[in-house]
Amino acid sequence: MEKKMIAGHDIKPGKNITDHIHVEGTELHVPHVMICGKEDGPTVLITAGIHNAEYVGIQAAIELSNELEPEQIRGNVVIVPLANRSGFENRTMSMVFEDGKNLNRVFPGDKEGSEADKLAHLLFDSFIKNADAYIDLHSGDGFESLIPFAYYLGDTPSEDISKKMIDCINTQYYVRSKCRTGGAYNLASIHGIPSVLIERGEMSLFNRAEIEADKSDIRNILTMLGVLPGTHHIYPKQALTEFDETAPFTGCWYPEKKAGERFNKGEKLGEIRDYFGKSLYTAFAPQEGVILYQCSSLNIIKDGPMIAYGVPIFD
Ligand SMILES: [Zn+2]
Repeated sequence: MEKKMIAGHDIKPGKNITDHIHVEGTELHVPHVMICGKEDGPTVLITAGIHNAEYVGIQAAIELSNELEPEQIRGNVVIVPLANRSGFENRTMSMVFEDGKNLNRVFPGDKEGSEADKLAHLLFDSFIKNADAYIDLHSGDGFESLIPFAYYLGDTPSEDISKKMIDCINTQYYVRSKCRTGGAYNLASIHGIPSVLIERGEMSLFNRAEIEADKSDIRNILTMLGVLPGTHHIYPKQALTEFDETAPFTGCWYPEKKAGERFNKGEKLGEIRDYFGKSLYTAFAPQEGVILYQCSSLNIIKDGPMIAYGVPIFD
């Protein structure tokens, strides 16, 4: 069997590594922790901070990397607690500081590109492609309100295991995504690596309950995958198809609904006004659904996120 390497480290039973890997051609370094169990088993990758101002997942990943012990686990757990470290240290709103790009829109990345492209390439090449399963942690950014939910990508070779991972996540909703470009978990799924993305927390805030909920979901997935001992819980939840509407104007935004609120077709969802209070645009619901996340800042930016909502899938 081919020996897998993670970020230049070989996998050895009982090994516990805390390190940074340098992104060639940049000043960027990616912190990572590798915990190798005493027994053979799958390698599970957990990333957080691909969006650096989504703090719940970052803190959950840091705590988990200190809580998991090689004695407890079968296989290996690799944790990247803060993928976009320079964004974090320069307090960007989830953009790579050096080039202003959204890291989760540029996968698979490019070795010859700018910083975000190079970083995405390294994350895939050194971490993701060597994993047997992958969990990516996100939240609502500083300008986004959000209810907890999870994504997996449909129509992939690993869909059945991704769905089993989804079943382990304690949220009311999940989205079976069709988006096959740009994101880390999407790319992993296309390459046959079962993957999920967990969204929990909003507006760049974080609290103990959300951090514990992220950790509990991850532990539950690890148990289902056989990495942690015991039996896992299954959380029944509603399947959704996601739709989103980007902002047609830059200006002031007045949402009508809250994240998690249901609405009927034709209801007003929000309004964009100019700096004199004059209406520029009113968003109406094209169909019934539930708000998954939406812009929650007064400012809204043309072609940027405005509303993302889910429509129930009934089989
Ligand atoms: Zn995110």
